[in-house]
Amino acid sequence: MTSASDGLPPLREVIRQHGLVARKSLGQNFLFDLNLTARIARAAGPLTGVTVYEVGPGPGGLTRALLALGAARVIVVERDERAIAALQDISALYPDRLDIIAADALGFDPQTRVRGGPVRIVANLPYNVATALLINWLSIEPWPPWFDSAVLMFQREVAERIVAASGSKIYGRLSVLAQWRCEARILFDVNASAFVPPPNVTSSVIRLVPHPEPMPCDRRLLETVTQAAFGQRRKMLRQSLRSLGADTAALLDTAGLDPTARAEDISIGGFVALARALAAARNPGA
Ligand code: SAM
Repeated sequence: MTSASDGLPPLREVIRQHGLVARKSLGQNFLFDLNLTARIARAAGPLTGVTVYEVGPGPGGLTRALLALGAARVIVVERDERAIAALQDISALYPDRLDIIAADALGFDPQTRVRGGPVRIVANLPYNVATALLINWLSIEPWPPWFDSAVLMFQREVAERIVAASGSKIYGRLSVLAQWRCEARILFDVNASAFVPPPNVTSSVIRLVPHPEPMPCDRRLLETVTQAAFGQRRKMLRQSLRSLGADTAALLDTAGLDPTARAEDISIGGFVALARALAAARNPGA
Protein backbone atom coordinates (compact mmCIF):
# COMPACT_ATOMS: atom_id res chain seq x y z
CA MET A 1 0.00 0.00 0.00
CA THR A 2 1.36 3.44 -0.88
CA SER A 3 0.88 6.62 1.09
CA ALA A 4 -1.20 9.32 -0.57
CA SER A 5 0.74 11.81 -2.70
CA ASP A 6 -2.13 14.30 -2.52
CA GLY A 7 -1.61 14.98 1.19
CA LEU A 8 -4.99 13.51 2.12
CA PRO A 9 -5.06 10.80 4.80
CA PRO A 10 -4.67 7.13 3.84
CA LEU A 11 -8.03 5.55 2.95
CA ARG A 12 -8.08 3.36 6.07
CA GLU A 13 -7.95 6.57 8.10
CA VAL A 14 -10.71 8.18 5.98
CA ILE A 15 -12.92 5.15 6.64
CA ARG A 16 -12.24 5.40 10.37
CA GLN A 17 -12.82 9.17 10.54
CA HIS A 18 -16.17 8.94 8.75
CA GLY A 19 -17.42 5.67 10.28
CA LEU A 20 -17.64 4.12 6.81
CA VAL A 21 -18.03 0.51 7.89
CA ALA A 22 -18.72 -1.36 4.63
CA ARG A 23 -22.37 -2.27 4.01
CA LYS A 24 -23.09 -5.34 1.90
CA SER A 25 -26.52 -3.97 0.94
CA LEU A 26 -24.73 -1.12 -0.88
CA GLY A 27 -22.24 -3.43 -2.63
CA GLN A 28 -19.42 -1.82 -0.66
CA ASN A 29 -16.01 -3.38 -1.27
CA PHE A 30 -13.50 -0.57 -1.01
CA LEU A 31 -10.09 -0.29 -2.64
CA PHE A 32 -7.40 1.06 -0.32
CA ASP A 33 -4.39 0.53 -2.57
CA LEU A 34 -3.69 3.85 -4.29
CA ASN A 35 -1.37 2.10 -6.81
CA LEU A 36 -4.36 0.06 -7.95
CA THR A 37 -6.79 2.99 -8.09
CA ALA A 38 -4.17 4.88 -10.15
CA ARG A 39 -3.88 1.90 -12.52
CA ILE A 40 -7.65 1.89 -13.05
CA ALA A 41 -7.69 5.67 -13.60
CA ARG A 42 -4.79 5.43 -16.11
CA ALA A 43 -6.78 2.86 -18.11
CA ALA A 44 -9.12 5.72 -19.08
CA GLY A 45 -6.26 7.35 -21.05
CA PRO A 46 -5.01 10.94 -20.72
CA LEU A 47 -7.51 12.90 -18.64
CA THR A 48 -6.51 16.49 -19.40
CA GLY A 49 -9.65 18.41 -20.39
CA VAL A 50 -11.81 15.34 -19.67
CA THR A 51 -14.88 15.15 -17.42
CA VAL A 52 -15.07 11.82 -15.63
CA TYR A 53 -18.33 10.36 -14.36
CA GLU A 54 -17.77 8.02 -11.41
CA VAL A 55 -20.53 5.94 -9.85
CA GLY A 56 -20.05 4.94 -6.22
CA PRO A 57 -16.91 6.81 -5.13
CA GLY A 58 -17.29 5.61 -1.51
CA PRO A 59 -14.31 6.94 0.48
CA GLY A 60 -12.82 8.31 -2.75
CA GLY A 61 -9.74 6.21 -3.57
CA LEU A 62 -10.47 6.14 -7.31
CA THR A 63 -11.75 9.73 -7.24
CA ARG A 64 -8.43 10.90 -5.81
CA ALA A 65 -6.51 9.04 -8.52
CA LEU A 66 -8.65 10.58 -11.27
CA LEU A 67 -8.11 14.10 -9.91
CA ALA A 68 -4.39 13.55 -9.32
CA LEU A 69 -4.08 12.36 -12.93
CA GLY A 70 -5.48 15.67 -14.12
CA ALA A 71 -9.18 15.10 -14.88
CA ALA A 72 -10.69 18.53 -15.51
CA ARG A 73 -13.75 17.55 -13.47
CA VAL A 74 -15.02 14.46 -11.76
CA ILE A 75 -18.77 14.07 -11.30
CA VAL A 76 -19.46 11.50 -8.59
CA VAL A 77 -22.80 10.03 -7.61
CA GLU A 78 -22.96 8.20 -4.29
CA ARG A 79 -25.92 6.75 -2.45
CA ASP A 80 -24.27 6.43 0.96
CA GLU A 81 -24.62 9.71 2.88
CA ARG A 82 -21.71 8.69 5.14
CA ALA A 83 -19.31 8.94 2.18
CA ILE A 84 -20.36 12.48 1.25
CA ALA A 85 -18.33 14.13 4.06
CA ALA A 86 -15.22 12.18 3.03
CA LEU A 87 -15.71 13.34 -0.54
CA GLN A 88 -16.07 16.94 0.60
CA ASP A 89 -12.55 16.76 2.07
CA ILE A 90 -11.28 15.80 -1.40
CA SER A 91 -13.29 18.60 -2.99
CA ALA A 92 -11.59 21.15 -0.72
CA LEU A 93 -8.22 20.09 -2.13
CA TYR A 94 -9.40 20.38 -5.76
CA PRO A 95 -11.64 23.48 -5.85
CA ASP A 96 -14.34 23.42 -8.54
CA ARG A 97 -13.16 20.06 -9.92
CA LEU A 98 -15.26 17.62 -7.90
CA ASP A 99 -19.04 17.64 -8.32
CA ILE A 100 -20.61 15.50 -5.56
CA ILE A 101 -24.13 14.21 -6.05
CA ALA A 102 -25.87 12.31 -3.26
CA ALA A 103 -28.27 10.11 -5.25
CA ASP A 104 -29.03 6.69 -6.65
CA ALA A 105 -27.04 6.34 -9.87
CA LEU A 106 -29.83 4.27 -11.42
CA GLY A 107 -32.02 7.36 -11.62
CA PHE A 108 -29.37 10.00 -12.31
CA ASP A 109 -28.42 11.51 -15.67
CA PRO A 110 -24.89 12.99 -15.52
CA GLN A 111 -25.50 14.96 -18.71
CA THR A 112 -27.30 17.54 -16.58
CA ARG A 113 -23.92 18.37 -14.93
CA VAL A 114 -21.53 18.21 -17.89
CA ARG A 115 -20.10 21.57 -19.00
CA GLY A 116 -18.50 20.40 -22.25
CA GLY A 117 -15.49 18.40 -23.43
CA PRO A 118 -15.23 14.62 -23.60
CA VAL A 119 -16.89 12.57 -20.86
CA ARG A 120 -15.58 9.18 -19.66
CA ILE A 121 -17.14 6.79 -17.18
CA VAL A 122 -14.70 5.29 -14.68
CA ALA A 123 -16.06 3.24 -11.79
CA ASN A 124 -15.55 0.40 -9.38
CA LEU A 125 -19.23 -0.47 -9.63
CA PRO A 126 -21.45 -1.65 -6.77
CA TYR A 127 -22.09 -5.26 -7.80
CA ASN A 128 -25.77 -5.20 -6.91
CA VAL A 129 -26.57 -2.61 -9.62
CA ALA A 130 -23.58 -3.00 -11.97
CA THR A 131 -25.34 -4.89 -14.76
CA ALA A 132 -28.43 -2.66 -14.60
CA LEU A 133 -26.21 0.45 -14.91
CA LEU A 134 -24.33 -1.04 -17.84
CA ILE A 135 -27.55 -1.94 -19.67
CA ASN A 136 -28.81 1.63 -19.12
CA TRP A 137 -25.60 3.04 -20.64
CA LEU A 138 -25.75 0.60 -23.57
CA SER A 139 -29.39 1.52 -24.21
CA ILE A 140 -28.86 5.28 -24.60
CA GLU A 141 -30.65 6.80 -27.58
CA PRO A 142 -29.56 8.23 -29.89
CA TRP A 143 -26.20 6.50 -30.26
CA PRO A 144 -23.26 7.37 -29.99
CA PRO A 145 -23.82 8.22 -26.32
CA TRP A 146 -22.51 11.09 -24.18
CA PHE A 147 -19.42 9.11 -23.03
CA ASP A 148 -16.45 8.28 -25.24
CA SER A 149 -15.26 5.33 -23.14
CA ALA A 150 -16.09 3.46 -19.96
CA VAL A 151 -13.56 1.77 -17.67
CA LEU A 152 -15.51 -0.39 -15.26
CA MET A 153 -14.83 -2.96 -12.57
CA PHE A 154 -17.17 -5.98 -12.56
CA GLN A 155 -17.14 -9.44 -11.06
CA ARG A 156 -14.97 -11.44 -13.47
CA GLU A 157 -17.86 -13.73 -14.35
CA VAL A 158 -19.91 -10.72 -15.56
CA ALA A 159 -16.92 -9.21 -17.38
CA GLU A 160 -16.40 -12.51 -19.22
CA ARG A 161 -20.05 -12.57 -20.29
CA ILE A 162 -19.77 -9.00 -21.61
CA VAL A 163 -16.80 -9.83 -23.88
CA ALA A 164 -17.78 -13.44 -24.74
CA ALA A 165 -17.62 -14.40 -28.43
CA SER A 166 -20.27 -16.42 -30.28
CA GLY A 167 -19.70 -20.14 -29.88
CA SER A 168 -18.97 -19.76 -26.17
CA LYS A 169 -21.25 -21.16 -23.45
CA ILE A 170 -21.35 -17.77 -21.73
CA TYR A 171 -22.19 -15.77 -24.87
CA GLY A 172 -25.61 -14.24 -24.26
CA ARG A 173 -27.88 -11.19 -24.42
CA LEU A 174 -25.44 -8.96 -22.57
CA SER A 175 -22.58 -9.95 -24.94
CA VAL A 176 -24.70 -9.11 -27.98
CA LEU A 177 -25.91 -5.73 -26.69
CA ALA A 178 -22.45 -4.70 -25.43
CA GLN A 179 -20.53 -5.76 -28.52
CA TRP A 180 -23.13 -4.45 -30.96
CA ARG A 181 -22.70 -0.98 -29.52
CA CYS A 182 -19.13 -1.03 -28.18
CA GLU A 183 -15.73 -2.51 -28.54
CA ALA A 184 -15.36 -4.41 -25.25
CA ARG A 185 -12.15 -5.73 -23.72
CA ILE A 186 -11.02 -7.09 -20.35
CA LEU A 187 -7.95 -5.09 -19.29
CA PHE A 188 -6.85 -6.87 -16.10
CA ASP A 189 -8.08 -8.88 -13.13
CA VAL A 190 -8.13 -7.68 -9.55
CA ASN A 191 -7.75 -10.22 -6.77
CA ALA A 192 -10.41 -10.28 -4.05
CA SER A 193 -7.70 -9.51 -1.47
CA ALA A 194 -7.35 -5.98 -2.92
CA PHE A 195 -10.78 -5.04 -1.49
CA VAL A 196 -11.95 -4.28 2.04
CA PRO A 197 -13.89 -6.39 2.81
CA PRO A 198 -12.76 -8.97 0.20
CA PRO A 199 -15.64 -10.21 -2.00
CA ASN A 200 -16.05 -13.94 -2.71
CA VAL A 201 -14.98 -13.58 -6.33
CA THR A 202 -12.21 -12.18 -8.51
CA SER A 203 -12.99 -8.90 -10.28
CA SER A 204 -12.00 -7.61 -13.72
CA VAL A 205 -11.59 -4.14 -15.15
CA ILE A 206 -13.05 -3.77 -18.62
CA ARG A 207 -12.97 -0.98 -21.17
CA LEU A 208 -15.86 -0.20 -23.49
CA VAL A 209 -15.44 2.16 -26.42
CA PRO A 210 -18.70 3.05 -28.22
CA HIS A 211 -18.84 2.20 -31.92
CA PRO A 212 -19.66 5.49 -33.67
CA GLU A 213 -21.97 3.63 -36.06
CA PRO A 214 -23.17 0.23 -34.84
CA MET A 215 -24.73 -2.03 -37.51
CA PRO A 216 -28.12 -0.38 -38.10
CA CYS A 217 -31.12 -1.96 -36.39
CA ASP A 218 -33.77 -1.13 -33.79
CA ARG A 219 -32.32 -1.80 -30.32
CA ARG A 220 -35.64 -2.95 -28.90
CA LEU A 221 -36.08 -5.49 -31.68
CA LEU A 222 -32.50 -6.69 -31.18
CA GLU A 223 -33.39 -7.22 -27.52
CA THR A 224 -36.62 -8.99 -28.54
CA VAL A 225 -34.80 -11.50 -30.75
CA THR A 226 -31.95 -12.16 -28.30
CA GLN A 227 -34.45 -12.63 -25.48
CA ALA A 228 -36.35 -15.22 -27.53
CA ALA A 229 -33.22 -17.00 -28.76
CA PHE A 230 -31.27 -17.09 -25.49
CA GLY A 231 -34.43 -17.65 -23.43
CA GLN A 232 -34.30 -21.20 -24.80
CA ARG A 233 -30.62 -21.39 -25.63
CA ARG A 234 -30.46 -25.18 -25.95
CA LYS A 235 -33.17 -25.20 -28.60
CA MET A 236 -32.68 -24.67 -32.33
CA LEU A 237 -33.66 -21.23 -33.60
CA ARG A 238 -36.60 -22.60 -35.60
CA GLN A 239 -38.05 -23.60 -32.21
CA SER A 240 -36.84 -20.85 -29.87
CA LEU A 241 -37.98 -18.01 -32.15
CA ARG A 242 -41.59 -19.21 -32.28
CA SER A 243 -42.41 -16.91 -29.37
CA LEU A 244 -41.86 -13.93 -31.73
CA GLY A 245 -45.25 -14.59 -33.31
CA ALA A 246 -43.92 -14.31 -36.86
CA ASP A 247 -43.20 -16.86 -39.61
CA THR A 248 -40.01 -18.29 -38.10
CA ALA A 249 -38.82 -20.03 -41.26
CA ALA A 250 -39.28 -16.85 -43.30
CA LEU A 251 -37.49 -14.74 -40.67
CA LEU A 252 -34.50 -17.08 -40.59
CA ASP A 253 -34.40 -17.24 -44.37
CA THR A 254 -34.46 -13.44 -44.69
CA ALA A 255 -31.72 -13.16 -42.07
CA GLY A 256 -29.64 -15.82 -43.82
CA LEU A 257 -29.48 -17.99 -40.69
CA ASP A 258 -29.51 -21.78 -40.36
CA PRO A 259 -32.82 -22.83 -38.71
CA THR A 260 -31.01 -25.65 -36.88
CA ALA A 261 -28.42 -23.30 -35.30
CA ARG A 262 -28.67 -22.37 -31.62
CA ALA A 263 -28.50 -18.89 -30.11
CA GLU A 264 -24.88 -19.20 -29.04
CA ASP A 265 -23.79 -19.94 -32.64
CA ILE A 266 -25.15 -16.65 -34.00
CA SER A 267 -22.78 -13.71 -34.46
CA ILE A 268 -23.74 -10.13 -33.55
CA GLY A 269 -24.27 -9.51 -37.28
CA GLY A 270 -26.59 -12.51 -37.40
CA PHE A 271 -28.76 -11.13 -34.58
CA VAL A 272 -28.81 -7.71 -36.25
CA ALA A 273 -30.00 -9.37 -39.48
CA LEU A 274 -32.69 -11.19 -37.49
CA ALA A 275 -33.87 -7.97 -35.81
CA ARG A 276 -34.08 -6.32 -39.21
CA ALA A 277 -36.00 -9.26 -40.64
CA LEU A 278 -38.45 -9.00 -37.72
CA ALA A 279 -38.84 -5.24 -38.31
CA ALA A 280 -39.66 -5.92 -41.98
CA ALA A 281 -42.10 -8.73 -41.08
CA ARG A 282 -43.94 -6.55 -38.56
CA ASN A 283 -44.01 -3.50 -40.81
CA PRO A 284 -43.97 -4.78 -44.40
CA GLY A 285 -44.65 -1.41 -46.02
CA ALA A 286 -41.76 0.46 -44.33
N1 SAM B 1 -15.11 3.59 -5.57
C1 SAM B 1 -14.91 3.05 -4.24
C2 SAM B 1 -13.65 2.20 -4.21
O1 SAM B 1 -13.21 1.81 -5.31
O2 SAM B 1 -13.17 1.92 -3.12
C3 SAM B 1 -16.12 2.26 -3.75
C4 SAM B 1 -16.59 1.14 -4.63
S1 SAM B 1 -17.82 0.11 -3.92
C5 SAM B 1 -17.59 -1.36 -4.86
C6 SAM B 1 -19.35 0.71 -4.59
C7 SAM B 1 -19.84 2.06 -4.13
O3 SAM B 1 -21.09 2.36 -4.78
C8 SAM B 1 -20.10 2.19 -2.65
O4 SAM B 1 -19.51 3.39 -2.17
C9 SAM B 1 -21.64 2.28 -2.53
O5 SAM B 1 -22.09 3.06 -1.44
C10 SAM B 1 -22.01 2.93 -3.84
N2 SAM B 1 -23.37 2.61 -4.33
C11 SAM B 1 -24.07 1.47 -4.14
N3 SAM B 1 -25.24 1.52 -4.79
C12 SAM B 1 -25.28 2.74 -5.40
C13 SAM B 1 -26.25 3.39 -6.22
N4 SAM B 1 -27.40 2.80 -6.57
N5 SAM B 1 -25.96 4.65 -6.67
C14 SAM B 1 -24.80 5.27 -6.34
N6 SAM B 1 -23.85 4.68 -5.56
C15 SAM B 1 -24.08 3.44 -5.10
